[in-house]
Amino acid sequence: MTKYIQINADISNIPYGDRKKILDAAQKQKDLADLVSGNPDMPMPQFLRERLKEAVDAGYARYTNYYGLPELRQRVSERLAAQRGIIADPDKELLITIGVQEALYVVMRSVLHPGDEVLIPSPHYANYYMNTLACGAKPVLVQLHEENGFVPDIEQLEEAITPKTRALVFCNPNNPLGVVWPREVLEKLAGLAQAHDLLVLVDEIYRDFTYTDQPPSIGSLPGMAERTFTFGGFSKSYMMMGLRVGYVVGPAEPMFHVKNLHYCIALCPPSLGQVAALAALDCPQEVLDELHKEFRERIQLLYQSVTTIPRVTCVKPQGAFYIFPNMKRFGLTSMDLAIQLIEKAGVSTLPGTEFGPYGEGHLRLSVCAKREQLEKGIARLLEFAKKSG
Ligand code: PLP
Repeated sequence: MTKYIQINADISNIPYGDRKKILDAAQKQKDLADLVSGNPDMPMPQFLRERLKEAVDAGYARYTNYYGLPELRQRVSERLAAQRGIIADPDKELLITIGVQEALYVVMRSVLHPGDEVLIPSPHYANYYMNTLACGAKPVLVQLHEENGFVPDIEQLEEAITPKTRALVFCNPNNPLGVVWPREVLEKLAGLAQAHDLLVLVDEIYRDFTYTDQPPSIGSLPGMAERTFTFGGFSKSYMMMGLRVGYVVGPAEPMFHVKNLHYCIALCPPSLGQVAALAALDCPQEVLDELHKEFRERIQLLYQSVTTIPRVTCVKPQGAFYIFPNMKRFGLTSMDLAIQLIEKAGVSTLPGTEFGPYGEGHLRLSVCAKREQLEKGIARLLEFAKKSG
C-alpha cells in the first residue's frame, strides 16, 4: 500500500476475528444446516409490510429529521417510560440511529478518551470490544463463569477497576450466552457504577425475547439515569434487521454531542426503516406473542436436545436467540470443533472464541434458521456426538 495511506492505528488494531476460517470451510460445503446466524430467517410481520408498501407507493424516501422522526422519538420515549421506567426527553435525551450498532459507536466515540478502560464482562458481543479499540480506549475483559450461570461476580469486576476505568458495557439478555441477569445483579452493578463513578452502557436489543421474569432496566434504578446509556432497537423485535433502526437514551448533556456525531456519520436514520418502526409500535400483540412463542419453543428444543449429549453442559437459556454449551468433552479447540462440524457433520456453528478468549471450549448455537433447518442441525449435531463416543 502506498506510504501516503497509513491506517489509523486505533482502527488497524480492531481484530478481524477468525470468522473467515468458518466462512471458508462453510463455502466448500453444499448442504449445511445453519446454527450460526443471528439474523432470523423470518419475514417481517404482514402488518409492517403493508405500512411500508404504502410509504413506498407514496415515494417516501427523503431525509428525515436528523435525530429521527419526532413522532417516533415521542412514541419510543412513551414506551420506555411505560415498559422500563426510563424517563427520557424525546428531544434531548433520545436519538434514533441506524440500529444499535451505530448507537454503540456514536456513544462510545463521544464519551471515551484514549487510554480509558472499559469493563466488558466476557464472553461478549464483539462490537463492544471493537468499538472500545476504535476509540483508542482499552477493553478489559472480566470473565463470566459457567458455574455461576454466566452472572457477573461483583468482586471480580471491582478488582478489575483502576483509576482509568470509565465504563461498563454489557447486554441483557445476553448474546452469546443466552442468559438474563436478574434484578439483584443489576442492583449490585448499579451500586458498583455509583461507587466508582462509572458510565453504564446497556444493550437491550433482545429485551422482548426474555423467557424468565423481566428484570428492570438498569437505567431505571435509583441514581442511574445520569450515568446510563440504554440501547434498544427494532431489528430483532420485529424481524426488521435490514431496515436498520435502533435508538439510544442517555443524559441530555452528553447526548447533545452524541447527536452531533450521529449527524456527521449518518445525517439521519433511514426513512423507510422509521416508517416500519412506527408501524411496529402499533403491531397487534397477538402477532408479537406468536413470534415470541416461536423463539421460546425453538430455544427450548435446542437446549433440551444439546443437553442430551453426555458430558455437555449448558446454562439454561433465559433470553435472546442463543445457547452457549460447553463442548470440552470433544477434546478439541472451539475452532477445530466448529470446522469439524462443518466438514464432517454438515452443521455450522460459531466457536465460543468469536466472543473472546473466555469462550474457549464452547460453541454458540442459534435458533435463527427456519425450523426445519434447526431440526436438521440438531439431528446432525447429535449424530456427530454419537459417533465421537
Ligand atoms: N447488539 C447485540 C447484542 C446484537 O446481537 C446485535 C445483532 O446481532 C446488535 C446489537 C445489532 O443490532 P442492530 O441491528 O440494532 O444494529
